[in-house]
Amino acid sequence: MSLNILALTCSQITRYLEKNYGKGKFHARALIREIIKTGNLQFQQAREFTNSPRLTVQLEQDLLLPSMEIIDQQEDSGTLKFVTKLKDGLTIESVIIPMKHYSTLCVSTQAGCRMGCIFCETAKQGFHRNLAVDEITGQLFSARFTLQKKIKNIVFMGMGEPFDNLDSLFQAIRVLNDPRGFDMALRHMTVSTCGVIPGIESLARQGMPQINLAVSINSASDKTRSMLMPVNQRYSLGKLKQALLAYPLMSRRVILIEYILIKGINDSPKDAEKLVNYLSGLTVRVNLIAYNPPDHGISSAGISRKRPQNLSLQSVDDNAMHQFAAILEAKGLFVVKRWAKGRSLQAGCGQLSGKNLHQSM
Ligand code: SF4
Repeated sequence: MSLNILALTCSQITRYLEKNYGKGKFHARALIREIIKTGNLQFQQAREFTNSPRLTVQLEQDLLLPSMEIIDQQEDSGTLKFVTKLKDGLTIESVIIPMKHYSTLCVSTQAGCRMGCIFCETAKQGFHRNLAVDEITGQLFSARFTLQKKIKNIVFMGMGEPFDNLDSLFQAIRVLNDPRGFDMALRHMTVSTCGVIPGIESLARQGMPQINLAVSINSASDKTRSMLMPVNQRYSLGKLKQALLAYPLMSRRVILIEYILIKGINDSPKDAEKLVNYLSGLTVRVNLIAYNPPDHGISSAGISRKRPQNLSLQSVDDNAMHQFAAILEAKGLFVVKRWAKGRSLQAGCGQLSGKNLHQSM
């Protein structure tokens, strides 16, 4: 057993040091200060360790230090996508989206994804495996210390369905939130799901009411949604709405509804009216996102999900986006229109491509 510093909170590290070395929070806090707070992997130089040479030698054998290797970076209009090679050779993608003073980091929770949404680049790769806790938190470590970005928000909206990797997700949130460690406020974290109801219910039981929940809806018709998102065949819109109604929202908080507008599929005035009806009774903010077509076309997908023959997905124009939004706004819904920052990077919601997934294997 080893001490995986990116996978544990300060209290857990303290317990580990107590149990294995008869040391405690003094050294746990020093380790975290050097490694997590300042990115200094030469923890031995800190006075707490120069004064404890025996412990230092033991920790040098025992401590798993951050070792995420960034193998590619691409930037478009300030949005930065970076590709990390994992220890087993798989790669994952993360995206840093610049805001006014700070940046938002979009993290992956799985290598690939098994949910099969037809508009999603990650889905084309199929599912490889869940990410371990340190592979999730390590994306923030890389963003802060390797790429030197000031990250204030984290969205679990990269490769994978977060609620398909529940244990690692919740432990990663605890580690990221630990005030002695990464110190990311829960209210600055958002978990985005394609609608996995047991995950929504489980998040509600975690005692983290400040964390934001985002749900990818994309159609208020079961038929269309099942075609776009196979998860709907298991967790239908009706069941999903019941789960959202039961979700314990804090006052003045909203559920974020993600809706990717795809030309001719879910962008008509009728689709907008259905969405208004579906969302009635829920406290929401709607993010409308223009579909970001891949540069190689949907027809080149090589995975085995059921997809209507010859279906070509196209983005909407600005006019269609405004018209759709106007119908929602006229019914009192708060709408944010997004034209997917980093469009050329395939870096919008559900659009990380994992193009490099096998390159390094
Ligand atoms: S949109 Fe999200 S849940 Fe759907 S296949 Fe892509 S990564 Fe998975």
